[in-house]
Amino acid sequence: MDGFGPDEAGVGGIAEEKYRALAYDTALSTLLAVALYVLVKVSLDGFRQWRARVSVLVVGSGPVGLTAALVAVRSGKVLKLTVLDERYRTAMLCRPQQIALDPRSVKFLLGLGVDFDNMEGCWHNEHFFTRIGVFQEYLLSILEQNKHKVDVKVQLGTKFTEEYLQRIPRSKWPRVIVVADGSCGDSCSVLGISSDYTVESCHAYGANATIERLDQRQVPTPEIRAHSLYFDLSAYGMEALRENRNTTVKPGFHLKIYGTFRNRCMALVCPASDTKTVRFLRQTPNSSIMKNIFHQSFNAYKTDIEPRLSDVTLHQMQCSRRLFEIQLSHRRISAAFIEGDNVAVIVEGEAARVLNFDTGFGVNLGMRGLESVGAFIYQTATAVDQNDILEALSAKMQHSRQLAETFKRTGLAESMYD
Ligand SMILES: Cc1cc2nc3c(=O)[nH]c(=O)nc-3n(C[C@H](O)[C@H](O)[C@H](O)COP(=O)(O)OP(=O)(O)OC[C@H]3O[C@@H](n4cnc5c(N)ncnc54)[C@H](O)[C@@H]3O)c2cc1C
Repeated sequence: MDGFGPDEAGVGGIAEEKYRALAYDTALSTLLAVALYVLVKVSLDGFRQWRARVSVLVVGSGPVGLTAALVAVRSGKVLKLTVLDERYRTAMLCRPQQIALDPRSVKFLLGLGVDFDNMEGCWHNEHFFTRIGVFQEYLLSILEQNKHKVDVKVQLGTKFTEEYLQRIPRSKWPRVIVVADGSCGDSCSVLGISSDYTVESCHAYGANATIERLDQRQVPTPEIRAHSLYFDLSAYGMEALRENRNTTVKPGFHLKIYGTFRNRCMALVCPASDTKTVRFLRQTPNSSIMKNIFHQSFNAYKTDIEPRLSDVTLHQMQCSRRLFEIQLSHRRISAAFIEGDNVAVIVEGEAARVLNFDTGFGVNLGMRGLESVGAFIYQTATAVDQNDILEALSAKMQHSRQLAETFKRTGLAESMYD
């Protein structure tokens, strides 16, 4: 049997030990090199991400556009921000409607540094009520205050058009455009984005009314809600009262009175049903029935300190002629990438989704959409390649679809039924 002698075993052992030491050294230096590479890469990526800034253009200075501008400033990822509105300051700020910010919107705005103590308005049930113009003025002032952090340009009286875009040198085009030009804006078509909408039923019927009384005050006023209302339409040949009171499954109406005393608004809603009353109010050609319902409801539920509507003052009220189906229209394409120019576009507020019915709560739906804008700007600014931007746009689209879905399920309950 062959074997190693003691010397041979010693030489073999030393060689093995040397080999082990070499392997160990090699592994250690590879590990160190990898660790160094990772460290350098992470630091460089971190530095690149930290430094990454984009320029952003916000089209529309309504409550949603201005809040989007504030989100952009707060993201810390914006080098230059331009905010446009086709209206001049006075026209923009004198809009009469009052907005109601619900607790979720209030929390979101507090996170952006909005100080409600410094804004004319009133609180009721954790909701903040203010005039739309007051809210816009406040946001404009915060943007002004942030001019030292970000290059902010507010261009009022400037319409977003193809010519406007062409005037900007291609190299200076914004990387992100936020379209918030409201329900009548056409900026999406300027950008080549389809104006197809998906129209979906909210499974409810409604009607709106507005009362303009120039002798009344224009101060923020809490809303009033009333539930389970039934209307006696027997004077119009309808035995509705009996039908509705006899059963618990047939739902009554929900009424909301909101706005200032000068610009009072009303919304009347009932969940979709095929009761005699609903059918009657949906089909009647007699518009005075609806007017009468709003007239009586207003006088029954208004605050004690505001005047009643009389037959003499009834002409100050405009209202829907009959009940209609409440529908939510939302854009099929609410986020897009303009290839070649490398511009990411997102659509927000009523430009993205709008009801054919005023709940007195609409601005909150716009605020929900903005909840994903900060992350979107961050992802776009720090994107390594186009895929990252497409991913960010896809997440934005998904969020937008989700919002419409959630609104269909719970939106009316939150804004009217509860
Ligand atoms: C009568 C009435 C009563 C309402 N009451 C309430 C209420 O009580 N509570 C509530 O929460 N909500 C209420 N709303 C709804 C609320 O006003 C909207 O939800 C809100 O204004 C939508 O905000 P936005 O920023 O999306 O659009 P908008 O407020 O419509 O702003 C869009 C802006 O874009 C500008 N614009 C359009 N096209 C261009 C362009 N090409 N270039 C530059 N600028 C452009 C417009 O001038 C406008 O200033 C009411 C609405 C109405 C009509």
